[in-house]
Amino acid sequence: MRIREIVKAFESYKVVEGNYRIWLDKNENPFDVPTEIKEEIFEELKNVPFNRYPHITADPLRERIAEFLGFEKENVIVGNGSDELISLLLKLFEGDHIVISSPTFGMYDFFAKLEGIDLVDVPLDERFKLQNVEDYAENAKAIFICSPNNPTGNTQEGEKIISVLETGAPVILDEAYIEFAEGSNVDLINEYDNLIVLRTFSKAFGLAGIRVGYAVGSEEIINYLLRIKPPFSLNVISMKIAELMLDHYDVIKQNINYIIKERERIYKEFKEYAYPSEANFLLMRLNAYEFLLERGIVVRKLGGRLDGHIRVTIGKKEENDELIKALKEFLEVK
Ligand code: PMP
Repeated sequence: MRIREIVKAFESYKVVEGNYRIWLDKNENPFDVPTEIKEEIFEELKNVPFNRYPHITADPLRERIAEFLGFEKENVIVGNGSDELISLLLKLFEGDHIVISSPTFGMYDFFAKLEGIDLVDVPLDERFKLQNVEDYAENAKAIFICSPNNPTGNTQEGEKIISVLETGAPVILDEAYIEFAEGSNVDLINEYDNLIVLRTFSKAFGLAGIRVGYAVGSEEIINYLLRIKPPFSLNVISMKIAELMLDHYDVIKQNINYIIKERERIYKEFKEYAYPSEANFLLMRLNAYEFLLERGIVVRKLGGRLDGHIRVTIGKKEENDELIKALKEFLEVK
């Protein structure tokens, strides 16, 4: 059975469960929504009818996101996490393969395998920059660019993204971590109809549990995506929460600044082993997964080309202090 092979290929993606103290493995935001804002949300939810289906194209949230970004509602689609949108995007375009640049987010490969789509991997270079992906653009269903890239943390240069867009192939630019970086390339959708930018409420907005992601692109692509999307995949509660959190961007911005500051503090401590990052995590050349787990700290263990590396999500200051302490101990006994 094909599914058996797919499941086997992704076995290493197993999520750790157990009674550990510190969770730095899923690139989550360490801050939950503050209680005052939760109370305001619960108050608003009282007025949301639970007996009715959600708006068929989720217009109230699309409008709110469009306003936040400076686009039109017609340029935005929301999904049940950006994962749902990745899977939909693979169904949309003609072509016989997708292009990815490893090491990168595993779901592109996973959904491609599930759909039976061939995958061309043009690995990132030794500095984790994109190589000659343009050479594989012909007949590509989509070229994936993850910037900042998970799990390496670096961004790709705007000129390179433009060079890939110039091929005319559909380009899916995954900006899941963009709020922790210097600048977004989302405005390129005004110039390139073949660009789709993926974003999420799971990281900077601290809403991984409510499952809301969105894509920004040309009116035509968004319209086709809406036509193939299960109409009610996003529920009324999640949509309302995402909408309300956009009204509290000041709180989100504070958390983003905190996380960036903490990221730089950890980076400085382990400069010799850590790669510069523009995301809410750090890639480290330290084979410390088991050592940390024994001390109750869960991080992500990487394999393949990144064998012997870990990916560490930036946590709260006290969690990061414990991480730093444990990693220093690791380096002493190593
Ligand atoms: N893209 C990237 C690069 C990610 O790392 C993640 C989450 N780990 C996602 C997309 C999916 O995010 P979500 O489905 O929670 O919106």
